[in-house]
Amino acid sequence: MSKVSLKRATTLREPAELVARGLAPAAVLPDLEKVASRYAVAITDDIADLIDPTDPDDPIARQFIPSADELRSEIGENADPIGDHTHSPVAGIVHRYPDRVLFKLVHVCAVYCRFCFRREMVGPGKETALPQAAYRAALDYIRARREIWEVILTGGDPLMLSPRRLSGIMTELAAIDHVRIIRIHTRVPVADPAAISDEMVGALKVTGAATWVAVHANHPRELSVKARAACARMVDAGIPLVSQSVLLRGVNDDAATLEALMRAFVECRIKPYYLHHGDLAPGTAHLRTTLARGQELMAALRGRVSGLCQPEFVLDIPGGHGKAPVGPNYLSPANSSVGQGEPGAESRYRVLDYCGDVHLYPPIS
Ligand code: SF4
Repeated sequence: MSKVSLKRATTLREPAELVARGLAPAAVLPDLEKVASRYAVAITDDIADLIDPTDPDDPIARQFIPSADELRSEIGENADPIGDHTHSPVAGIVHRYPDRVLFKLVHVCAVYCRFCFRREMVGPGKETALPQAAYRAALDYIRARREIWEVILTGGDPLMLSPRRLSGIMTELAAIDHVRIIRIHTRVPVADPAAISDEMVGALKVTGAATWVAVHANHPRELSVKARAACARMVDAGIPLVSQSVLLRGVNDDAATLEALMRAFVECRIKPYYLHHGDLAPGTAHLRTTLARGQELMAALRGRVSGLCQPEFVLDIPGGHGKAPVGPNYLSPANSSVGQGEPGAESRYRVLDYCGDVHLYPPIS
């Protein structure tokens, strides 16, 4: 493995640069320096342009500008919150479910999110990309297991690779008979839209496997004109897009923002896929909501937007046990509270409509 592009976008990496650009007050510089010495910092020009420096609660700044809160770890937080290491049979591969693997090619990103679940594994100072020998061993692992139908390129951000390098990897994966789906999780279309060039789009398309791209964005403002154009270049080339978002306190934990985000995805022809509960990564408690709040918001979303705009609210079970859908439940046995005393009520279900009103479902199958 080689050739990760770190030079595409102009990127702010030093706390002093954030202060000089007016993205953080000079008074917090010592705190920023402390955080930056522990966790990677990078903000592209495209993301910096989205930040309103006059708003102390700016939802974009909250995702990317370091905060002293990151220096505080809570009990239960963990450097490997979703158990990658326990399910990694060879370097670069996480094999958690029978039919799919994560393939972690690179350990760098265009931007570093303050809530990142792999914050202890990505960024400068770590290995930039999987060494060549490990890359070949990971490919051999996939080749030897016919049950692997889907390979999910993640990291780090796989679209930090040059189009030429990415094309080579995609071609090698697609040449494996049983690999039919290559899914790429990325923040590049939002953080560095110009990097989704014709060459990059060309690299994503391969013969022998279908490519899906999961675009990570958490606030509707991230889907800027340039980001929308980058997504359109992929969709117009025939690449299906799905979304990936994290529910974040002070960023998108209100129904109106979530609604706007999901509508924006669908307008961009991105099918909402995942809304993650924040993982228990160290120093991220100030950005997490409660699971109960997530369920409330998902119920509110159902009342506001069509099924096309509904993501699945998921929790990655600590320890590496995979994702569980944790959204609200709309169906329950009627013999709990509602419908009691009515003839036949014990054999009915109670079902919630989109307004939250309860109805009894008849006792037929
Ligand atoms: S882009 Fe993904 S891997 Fe990179 S910092 Fe953000 S959440 Fe972490």
